[in-house]
Amino acid sequence: MTDNNDTPDASGEGYFGRFGGQFVPETLVAALQQLDTEFTSAMSDDSFLDELARCNREIGGRPSELYFCKRLTEQIGGAKIYLKREDMNHTGAHKINNTLGQALLCLRMGKKRVIAETGAGQHGVATATAAAVFGLECAVYMGTEDIRRQSLNVFRMKLLGTEVVPVTSGQRTLKDACNEALREWMSSVEGTHYILGSVTGPHPFPTIVREFQSVIGREARAQMLEAENRLPDVIVACVGGGSNAAGIFAPMIEDAEVAMVGVEAGGRSMSPGDHAATLCVGSPGVLHGSLSYVLQDEDGQTADVHSISAGLDYPGVGPEHSYWKDTGRVQYTNCTDDEAMDALVTLSRTEGVIPALESSHAVAEAIKQAAKLDSDKIVLINLSGRGDKDCNEIQEILARKE
Ligand SMILES: *Cc1c(COP(=O)(O)O)cnc(C)c1O
Repeated sequence: MTDNNDTPDASGEGYFGRFGGQFVPETLVAALQQLDTEFTSAMSDDSFLDELARCNREIGGRPSELYFCKRLTEQIGGAKIYLKREDMNHTGAHKINNTLGQALLCLRMGKKRVIAETGAGQHGVATATAAAVFGLECAVYMGTEDIRRQSLNVFRMKLLGTEVVPVTSGQRTLKDACNEALREWMSSVEGTHYILGSVTGPHPFPTIVREFQSVIGREARAQMLEAENRLPDVIVACVGGGSNAAGIFAPMIEDAEVAMVGVEAGGRSMSPGDHAATLCVGSPGVLHGSLSYVLQDEDGQTADVHSISAGLDYPGVGPEHSYWKDTGRVQYTNCTDDEAMDALVTLSRTEGVIPALESSHAVAEAIKQAAKLDSDKIVLINLSGRGDKDCNEIQEILARKE
């Protein structure tokens, strides 16, 4: 079933080339079908789209700004560098775009409870926020290692009225939280909607999450044309599961003049277990319900992963990114923990913007790209989130370096 070139390239069936699909137990098939039907009808329903736009504006704080990095551009001395400021959204990252959309779908399906997995805690907080706004019951699955690293987000979720369920299996991070959330959903699927947090998982999740995150790219496209009268030469985004990247890439994917770079976590080194560079060095396999690139050993055992950022240490990636990689439309690279930390400090000191550790990977790569380009070129960074949540971790790391 894995690595099968005969997999149908069936639009509407949840395939992106040979990637994607719906590799799930029988108990989930009906719920995924219902979700697919509901999503398709919602997206052609003007009242749903109006309500989504209102929520994005009044709750999410959209539109997010397009911001020109004057001092950083001068310091690097190459292409103009712009930020798409998803860090300015309510709850501090792009995650809210997806959770508001899925909470509205949940209400449309008449379900009263949501569950979610979380790594850095950003998706958990965004889900807890949407649940509070709409009066939904909410439980978030989180690995105990991430609970330790992101205690502030754990507290925020609880304050918002959400139950945080500790996951102690495996490496106790995002992959393990996904496993637990999927397992729970099988027993609660009647009245519960699973708000999956990235462009991963079984069909229709990769499509749903991409569509709700595409507000980023639609805004950025219009803002770029407004500011510069043209589109950027390069867009750079970090890739964990790939939702912020898909959100900014998808609306410009047909614009051939725009190059796109996805940046994975290069971690400590490229030895197995030291990074989370799934597209860079992984191979096709099934993880969490879809066929995509996966970090795995020769027996198909999912590999351990590491990243300085809790939101990027995931051994899988969205199936559409696997497709974009194979077609060559998007280039995928990685940067190390140290490069991300350096970029974090640089952006903080040049622009007064403390980026999330995840987003700092995109900043690091964008700086490399901009330095190689002439001053009439434009590099756009999707600044997926703010660094407030990481300040304890950053403080410890910088203290160790001194
Ligand atoms: C969750 C998160 C990511 C990684 O998730 P994607 O689905 O790859 O976008 C990146 N940046 C921030 C700030 C996050 O919270």
